[in-house]
Amino acid sequence: MNNLRRSTKLLLATVLLAGLGTASFAKERVYTWKLATTWGPTLSPFIDAPKNMAKMVKEMSNGRLVIRIDASNKHKSPFGVFDMVKGGQYDMAHTASYYWKGKDITLLPLTTMPFGMTAPEQYGWFYEGGGMELMQKAYSKHRMLSYPGGNTGNQMGGWFRKEIKTLDDLKGLKMRIPGFAGEVMAKLGLAVTNIAPGELYTSLERGGLDALEWVGPGMDIKMGFHKVAPYYYTGWHEPSTELQYLVNKKKFNKLPKDLQVILETAMRLSAYDMYIENYAMSAEAWSKIAKEYPNIKIKTFPKEIMDAIKKATKEIIAEKSEGNALLQEILASQNAFQAKARPWTIMSDFIYLKDNME
Ligand code: CA
Repeated sequence: MNNLRRSTKLLLATVLLAGLGTASFAKERVYTWKLATTWGPTLSPFIDAPKNMAKMVKEMSNGRLVIRIDASNKHKSPFGVFDMVKGGQYDMAHTASYYWKGKDITLLPLTTMPFGMTAPEQYGWFYEGGGMELMQKAYSKHRMLSYPGGNTGNQMGGWFRKEIKTLDDLKGLKMRIPGFAGEVMAKLGLAVTNIAPGELYTSLERGGLDALEWVGPGMDIKMGFHKVAPYYYTGWHEPSTELQYLVNKKKFNKLPKDLQVILETAMRLSAYDMYIENYAMSAEAWSKIAKEYPNIKIKTFPKEIMDAIKKATKEIIAEKSEGNALLQEILASQNAFQAKARPWTIMSDFIYLKDNME
């Protein structure tokens, strides 16, 4: 009888322990993260990438990793997100690497380069050509990790109030154009600035800017730039703009391994989704442009200007990379991958399009 009682007690204890085990699993630690964006709360498709990423992370982790998003209207510092993630006030950000050229020029080519790779070529470089490793190397001194956060594809060259016929027409123009292209335009005599996305239209309308570039028809036409500056130029400067997730390395290392994998997977998928969303938006806008916006004049910069732009690009690359071994390593790696990939891009996409033009 005693033995039976003892066994029953043992069994009960086992059941209880098992129960406790289940209960403790259900109450496993929830990680709540904060993400800051350079974008406002309605700036599609940029803002959709972190929103989709956070939703996927929550679902895939069964609620164990929750990421709250503060858009720029909340934290009031669109270009402060780099320092806020570095300093740990935010765990991660969604932004673009070339905005930080003033802090660290090495980070600039991780977004896009004038006359550089197209989006599929650049994704090839990131994931198959050593780009991810170089990006982590560049961000490690800032105690951050960085991941591709969505690509805009080839961007348009910008909106101008007047037609640009000669190099002289560019001199003294106040233009918003970030990244490496901003350096090039400055060398051609423009007064170059970078302005937060939310202030672009007002600056152009009030004359604070004479010209600006933003993204492509999907995002640009909604902003209304064509009402003030109807000359819309084809692009040369941002053939594959990759946005970036920045992640505080210390915080990332504190996550359990499975949550790290979930986060990385969701970031990568959300980037791909944004690339598709932006592509579809631009295709839709472009299909209507002639009919719905007859005042928009599509232009290509004259040869004189393109030659000057190419020359300035080469000179600035040489100037900026002097004495910066990591920047040289990144640019050499990008150039080598581009040289290898481009003949296939031409043979596949370009020849296909050329041979099938109506
Ligand atoms: Ca742009």
